[in-house]
Amino acid sequence: MSDCLFCKMVSGDITPDILHSDEHVMAIRDINPQAPFHALVIPRQHIATVNDLTPQDAEIVGRMYLAARTLAQANGFAEDGYRTVMNCNRLAGQTVYHLHLHVLAGRAMHWPPG
Ligand code: 5GP
Ligand code: ZN
Repeated sequence: MSDCLFCKMVSGDITPDILHSDEHVMAIRDINPQAPFHALVIPRQHIATVNDLTPQDAEIVGRMYLAARTLAQANGFAEDGYRTVMNCNRLAGQTVYHLHLHVLAGRAMHWPPG
């Protein structure tokens, strides 16, 4: 997807602050952090929203969560806790239409979320 911001990061056209990279996913630091630690786990393949997932994508979703776990452990948040979020479409506040998992940590999270 040539006009997709996160595809441009995956291809290297744009170079974000990369926190993790493997053959399945990348993790970048969010440009507008909502917590002391705020990363986005992005699959290398373009999937627009959770609605667009197919059974063939089951592994990539698991890989995204494994990367979130790795990030939390590597940055010292695994024990105290952290929040993982995927926003889907307008009412959830999705603004970038390439699947991504938010990983937020370093402060107490509220429930219910806003
Ligand atoms: P959404 O609202 O779609 O769930 O999350 C999109 C996230 O991407 C937001 O938290 C926003 O701050 C982040 N974001 C948008 N543009 C950029 C960018 O150019 N670089 C980085 N690192 N994050 C971005
Ligand atoms: Zn994309």
